[in-house]
Amino acid sequence: MNLTLHLTDNCNMDCSYCIREKCPKDMTEEVLYKACDLAFSKGPRAGICFFGGEPLIRKDLIYKALDHCEKKSEETGIRFDCKMTTNGTLLDEEFIERAVRAKMGIGLSFDGKAQDVCRIFAGGNPTSEVVEEKAKLLLKHMPDASALATIAPQAVSYYAESVEYLHDLGFRNLSFVIAYGRKVNWTDDDMVILREELKKTCAYVKELFIRGEKFYIGPIYTKISECIRDKNTAERCHLGLRQMPVTPDGRIYPCTSFIGDEDYLLGDVFNGINKEKVFEISKKESTPETCIGCDLVKRCTNSCGCANRMNTGDENKVSPLQCTYERMLIEECDALGEDLYQINPQRFAEVFK
Ligand code: SF4
Ligand code: SF4
Repeated sequence: MNLTLHLTDNCNMDCSYCIREKCPKDMTEEVLYKACDLAFSKGPRAGICFFGGEPLIRKDLIYKALDHCEKKSEETGIRFDCKMTTNGTLLDEEFIERAVRAKMGIGLSFDGKAQDVCRIFAGGNPTSEVVEEKAKLLLKHMPDASALATIAPQAVSYYAESVEYLHDLGFRNLSFVIAYGRKVNWTDDDMVILREELKKTCAYVKELFIRGEKFYIGPIYTKISECIRDKNTAERCHLGLRQMPVTPDGRIYPCTSFIGDEDYLLGDVFNGINKEKVFEISKKESTPETCIGCDLVKRCTNSCGCANRMNTGDENKVSPLQCTYERMLIEECDALGEDLYQINPQRFAEVFK
């Protein structure tokens, strides 16, 4: 079973687009161990994602969870996988070495050249210099670490430049998403710039492809590969039941946007998961009514109930922003895919199949 442990809701940063509410309570050791045991209770593998707030504020809990899960994996023969999303400011050599031993996948939230526009320390200081140094340290030990960028409207003109900067820093796995939620407001002018930035990014990806570089950037690569594999994006996930969040007090929900909504409470680490509730939620219709009949329905992330809820308050309602963005993204990715195929069909198949 895959669980995302919200070790703390606190954070040493104060990003302008942050959707998390700061809260004085951290996860207790009792909840932590129960959550780890629950991850081992079903299926052939136990997956733990360390999350926050900023999870490295509670490094001590991460060390404890790793020791506990590795021991459990040895005893049961069940495979243990772990990952973490972090703002990186508290990374140090000792932690990274432990993470390497645990084969932890680390996603560094880093907006590249846009970092100081939205991602500042609590108190207002910029974070880019610190995070750049930590990124270098991370890449020295974990060359496969990912950089996760969230582009807000006020930083949209840094999009393409940030892709290049993160690549030059050494990242070969990037994820670029746009910021959603009540704290951001995309205007039509921002969307025009976003389109230009996507075009520049696609041109850069083409350059790397021609150079034969191994590189991945989501969602651009995903859109191309899912199209040629005829994979239905909409089937990927509706309410995140494949990776359930556990709150600091041990309650379990289908996905982050649903935390605190008692109608979606799936159980807790002490009493386990209510199977009927999971069944009831997994049966919910995942295609929003307004998307039925759209040509792009199978290629769009319209079915992400978590994103829909965050944007519109309704898991089955896609925001106009997301619809515009998805159309733009699919159009640009299709043009790029066509180009790359013409350049080298064999390599295209190797990269995207
Ligand atoms: S680092 Fe993450 S949790 Fe912390 S303020 Fe920024 S977005 Fe929020
Ligand atoms: S492009 Fe818009 S209408 Fe079409 S499936 Fe996506 S969100 Fe729905």
